[in-house]
Formats: sequence, C-alpha cells, structure tokens
Amino acid sequence: MITHDEVNQLVNYTAREGIAISFFLNTDGSERSKNIWDIETKDLVKNARREVLKLDTNRRYIEAADENLKHIQKFISSESLPPKFKSIAIFSNPVENFYQIYRLPVPIKSKIILDANFYLRPLLSLLEERHRIGVILVDSRHARLFELYLGELVEHNDFFAKTKSPRKPLMETFMKREKRLMQRREEDIRFHLSSVADQLKLHYRLGHFDKLIIGARKPLGDHLARLLNRKVHDNLLGVTEIDIHAPEAEVLAVALRKEKEFESEEERRLLRKISDEIEKDGYAIKGIKNVTESLNNFNVQTLAIADDFSREGLACQQCGMPHYEGKTCVCCGEQLVQVSDIVYDLAEEAARQGAVVRHIHSDPLIKSLENVASIIKFRKGELVRTEEAVETEA
Ligand SMILES: [Zn+2]
Repeated sequence: MITHDEVNQLVNYTAREGIAISFFLNTDGSERSKNIWDIETKDLVKNARREVLKLDTNRRYIEAADENLKHIQKFISSESLPPKFKSIAIFSNPVENFYQIYRLPVPIKSKIILDANFYLRPLLSLLEERHRIGVILVDSRHARLFELYLGELVEHNDFFAKTKSPRKPLMETFMKREKRLMQRREEDIRFHLSSVADQLKLHYRLGHFDKLIIGARKPLGDHLARLLNRKVHDNLLGVTEIDIHAPEAEVLAVALRKEKEFESEEERRLLRKISDEIEKDGYAIKGIKNVTESLNNFNVQTLAIADDFSREGLACQQCGMPHYEGKTCVCCGEQLVQVSDIVYDLAEEAARQGAVVRHIHSDPLIKSLENVASIIKFRKGELVRTEEAVETEA
C-alpha cells in the first residue's frame, strides 16, 4: 500500500547525487497482454538509455542510471501482475539507494522520465482522486483500526495498545472500588471509547485516513461517533455492525462497499452540478472539443471523464498539450502529432494545471455529457466585461 508518508517522501525528494528515474507502465489487462507491455518496456528503456548516455553529468551517475534501466526491464519481464492492477510505477535512484515500486489499480500512461526529482503528476492526480478509508472496529474493551487505500487493506496492529492510558490517581481508584459494579463498568467503557476517539484523531492527523467507517454493535458505534473530534466526525461515512474479530476479508468487503457507495454519491453530485451549470449557461461545459479548448485556455477546475472513454486526437510534441484541431501548439507553437488516445493527455494536462480529475465509473449521466465534461473557472469574456463595467462606472 502507498502510505501517506511514502507519498510525502516522493514529493519532497530531490536527488543530490545520481539521476532520479520515474518509470510508468500501463498494464491494463483488458486491452493489453504481458507480451505487449514487455515490448513497450523494451522500447522505453532503449530510448531512455540513449538519453542517459547523452547527459552531461558525472560518469558514475550515468553508469548507475544505465544499470538501473536495465534492471527495470528485467524486473518487468519477470513480473506477473494480477488483473486488478492496471499500471506499475517505479521511482528509483540507485546512487542514493532509493527504490519504490507501486502496483496501481488505475492505468497510467507509459513513460520514463529522467530528472533530479521524480515525475509525480499522473500519480498524484490518481492518489488525489481516491480516498484513504479508516475502519475502526470496537467492542466494550477492544479496538482495531484498518486502513483501506486503492483496494488494499492493512491493519494498524499497534492501535489498541496505544489507546491505554496511565492509571488514574490512587485516591480515585480507591473510591471507585466502592461504587457499584455496574457503574464502574459503564465508566470503563466510556473511558475506553474516549481514548479510542483520541487515538483516531491522531491517526487522522497523520494522514492514515481521510474517511472513516465505524464497525460496532449497537449502541456502541453511535456512542463512539458522538465522541469523535469534529473534523473526524465530518468525515464519517457511516456506522455499521461488524464483529470485532471479523476476518480481514470481511472488513475489506464492507469497506469496499461503503467506499463505492460514497464514490457513486460524489460522482452523482459532481455530474448534477455540471448539468445544472450547463443548463443555465454557467460554469461548466461538455464534450471533447469544448473541454480540450478550455484546457488550452487553462480554464478547467474539475474534469469528469467516463472511465471507458477514449478518442483519437492531437497533442503537442514538445509540451504534451492536447488539441482538438489545428497544426501547431497554442502554447509553444510546436508541431502537433496524432495520438491514439487523447483522453490520457487530457487527464494528465488537467492534473498538471492543478485541476481535480474524476474518472466516472458508474453514473449514466456522464454519457449524456458526451463522456467528458468539466467545471470551468471563468466564462469567455466575463472578466473583460466586468472590468469594462467597473471602468464605465468610474
Ligand atoms: Zn506545446
């Protein structure tokens, strides 16, 4: 699983020595076979090795990078990837002993980038789109925390141990002994739930989850929900009954179902907003032509694309900007070339411009939006009109 810390490590990485190599391979099984991705890797590595040898830098760095590229090729040819994974990303710099491999459930366009920093655009855009979901299981004495991300579930094994707090002052303990057993038991549970809530706040701050599911018998789950820190509570997806000893597979199934429900809701909300805006001629557009042109004008705030949508198109050889028509790039004036799937380029460029990219998996509304639509930042001519109006008033 890609942890929050690993992502931070990648983002903050700058090679002091050596060359940072970012490798992406689209292994989407529905359209491609292992044979094809082997050949593709060979081509990518061949070109990258040529590029490395031309670099004007330390001989040792070049040799290490060259070895590293060969190593990547060997690794890919021995890799057998379960079909649920659709791409592999490798970030490496052998001179600094840096090596991270990720198998991802979403396709990313194949490429190799050599630089001092890792090329993270497509990865970050993908990560941003998906939620990290915490599942907290509690009963009256115990608690377990799981983290679900990109379809993978891991348990935080130290969670419960950390919820235990130091003993209370002796005097109080002595007095409590005198109380009726029921009352003491009640206090113990309340105390247990409060420390679970405290511990959850900490894990939330550490980026271990951004959405939470509570699994507990009634009414314990609802009590815990009430004790949550406000921010954590705002991100509660629901309270459901799961046994504290439930096997991981069961926790995973429940978490995936909740995640899907939540994502469908989010998708629907976004698509409705886009439709509403289009209807009143507001801040949204649809269709590949309009969206591509808006992107050319750096005017996309949120991009929604049907998961199964692809389309031939044009892209700039130099800067990668996708185009709907024309011969030269609107940004840099370079020649445009035909690309087999402009949708990848569209998503990548949108991410580069800082837009949110949403792949729509299930909602039929995206079809009526011609498979691709976006919320835009401004309407054509709007700012000039505003300025003119102000000037006239003055
Ligand atoms: Zn260009």
